[in-house]
Amino acid sequence: MNTKKRVLTGDRPTGKLHLGHYVGSLQNRLRLQSEHEQIFCMIADLQALTDHADHPEKVRKNVLEITMDNLAVGLDPDKTVFFIQSHIPEIAELTVLFMNLVTLARLKRNPTVKDEMKQKGYGEDVPAGFLAYPISQAADILTFHANSIPVGEDQLPVLEQTNEIVTKFNSLYGNLFSKIEPVLSTVPRLVGVDGGAKAGKSLGNAIYLSDSKEEIMRKVMMMYTDPDHIRMEMPGKIEGNVVFTYLDVFDPDKETMQILKTKYSQGGLGDVEIKYRLVDILENFIAPIREKRIEYECHPEMVLRILEEGTNRAREIAKETMCEVKKAIGLDYF
Ligand code: ATP
Ligand code: MG
Repeated sequence: MNTKKRVLTGDRPTGKLHLGHYVGSLQNRLRLQSEHEQIFCMIADLQALTDHADHPEKVRKNVLEITMDNLAVGLDPDKTVFFIQSHIPEIAELTVLFMNLVTLARLKRNPTVKDEMKQKGYGEDVPAGFLAYPISQAADILTFHANSIPVGEDQLPVLEQTNEIVTKFNSLYGNLFSKIEPVLSTVPRLVGVDGGAKAGKSLGNAIYLSDSKEEIMRKVMMMYTDPDHIRMEMPGKIEGNVVFTYLDVFDPDKETMQILKTKYSQGGLGDVEIKYRLVDILENFIAPIREKRIEYECHPEMVLRILEEGTNRAREIAKETMCEVKKAIGLDYF
C-alpha cells in the first residue's frame, strides 16, 4: 500500500474563484505548499459538466480563469501539480469501477448533493452524472493515493462517501487504498454577500478574487446588515450581520473591531461607515492578487503550458494506479 502523504484539491471551472474559496480552501493549499507537501490541484472540468452539459464553452473558458486565480494567490507550479481532469482518462475508468460499489439509495442520501439538487431545481430529473459526482470525486482522489484533502465544509459528506468506497474496495479486492482526511480551515464556510449560507460561484453572491475596487464597493454596499438598524444612533445587531461576519474574517485589527462592535451594538455607528471600512480591507487584500493575476492574463500561453506539463505528470501517476487497481480486481489479462 502506498502510504506517502499526498494532497489533492481542486475547483470546478464554473466561474472565477471568490473569497469563500480563499478562506475555505486556497489558504490551506498555500500552507501545505509551504510545508512542502506534494500537492495535486485538479481543474474539475468533467465535474463542472455534470451540471453544465449544455454550456461546455463556459467550462472551457473557466479552466484558464481558475488556474490563473490559483496562481495569482501564490500557488507555485514548480511545487504544485496543476492538471485537467478530463485529460486523465484513468479517472473516468476508476469511476466506472467505483460505480459498482455505491448504491443509488446512498447517492440520493448525500446531504450536499441533495442541497445542490434543490438549489438547481432538479427533482427526479437530475442528470445521472450529477447524482454520481461523489463517485467520480472518490476516483479523483484515489487515483493519486491522496490522503489530505483541503476543502470547504460543504464537501465533507462527499469525502465521507470516498472513505466508504475505500472500505468497500479494500474489503473486496485487498488493501490498496488508504482512508482520506479532509483539511478544514478556520473559516470552512463563508456566507454570501446576500446573507445566504454559502458564497458560491453558481449562486452569484460572492466577491471574486479578481473583482475591481468598484465591484467590491458595489457588493459591500448591497450587503445585508441588521434590517432594524435604520438610523445611526439606534443599537444594531452583530450576529447575522454580513458586514461584521466578513470583518471578523478579513480585518486583522481585532482590537479596533471589538471597539467598533461595541459601538454598533450600543448605537452610534452607521452601516455606511462600517461598510467603507470593509471595502478598504477587502481592496487591500484583493489588490495584490488582482495585480499578479494580470501578469497571467497577459500570457495565457504560459498558463496553458503549466496545465499541460502538470497534466502529463499527473497522467503518469494515474497510469500506475490503474495498473494496481486492475491487478487487484484481476483485470490484468495480458
Ligand atoms: P459551484 O457553485 O460551481 O459549485 P463553488 O463556489 O461551490 O462553485 P467549487 O469549485 O464547487 O466552488 O468548490 C471549490 C472548493 O472551495 C471546495 O473545496 C469548496 O468546499 C470550497 N468552497 C466553495 N465555496 C466556499 C465557501 N463559501 N466557503 C468556504 N469554502 C468554499
Ligand atoms: Mg461547489
